[in-house]
Amino acid sequence: MTATVDQRREKLVEVYNEAVVCERCPLSATRNQVVFGAGNADADLMFVGEAPGAEEDRQGLPFVGRAGGLLTQLLEEIGLSRGDVFIANVLMCRPPGNRDPAPLEIESCHPYLYEKIRLIQPRVVCTLGNFATKLLTGSPTGITRVRGTPQVHDLGGRTVFLLPLLHPAAALRTPAMAETLRADFGTLPALLAQPLPDEPGPQEAGGEDPPEPAAAGVPDADQLGLFG
Ligand code: URA
Repeated sequence: MTATVDQRREKLVEVYNEAVVCERCPLSATRNQVVFGAGNADADLMFVGEAPGAEEDRQGLPFVGRAGGLLTQLLEEIGLSRGDVFIANVLMCRPPGNRDPAPLEIESCHPYLYEKIRLIQPRVVCTLGNFATKLLTGSPTGITRVRGTPQVHDLGGRTVFLLPLLHPAAALRTPAMAETLRADFGTLPALLAQPLPDEPGPQEAGGEDPPEPAAAGVPDADQLGLFG
């Protein structure tokens, strides 16, 4: 039986309640807060960054520092708000000093990330930066070679478009990268409207036009209040 949106949201809240007290890896000893992720529990579009930084650890929310400001701005430029999408990270806890995530930390957090994808059921997952991209694509090819070209992957038991993007923090350091990231964001509305390989195309589904890009976002009634 297919779960309803409400059932998926309820389950996501259960996963959240489990995650906020997680002690699966040593980062539980150094974090201030678990950063579960935030946004729409029924989002078509999901972002996956690397790990919380100092500000995220302080607020318990993802991408709330300067890089997050750029992410919010780029979303607005394509007609979306943070409440339309779901934003998460590979790790839910900040590695001390923002060092790279360690294998045990990734392994411990992995089931949470895949459960989020399984429950939210996004159509497009954007990986932000090298780290999330290599992990979710399962390929060692670096972000500069793969960015901007959608791939098809099975994540959390779902077929999704995976769009590798430059990390907003890198874009803040290099103006040319900011323009590249902006251009790649510009491809998202069309990608969101595109049928996934396991979905019928508009012709097969009855000849209707694909939805307008804005409608490919998500209904506000489905906002997961708990996550803002
Ligand atoms: N960088 C990330 O990868 N994630 C955040 O949440 C903030 C900065």
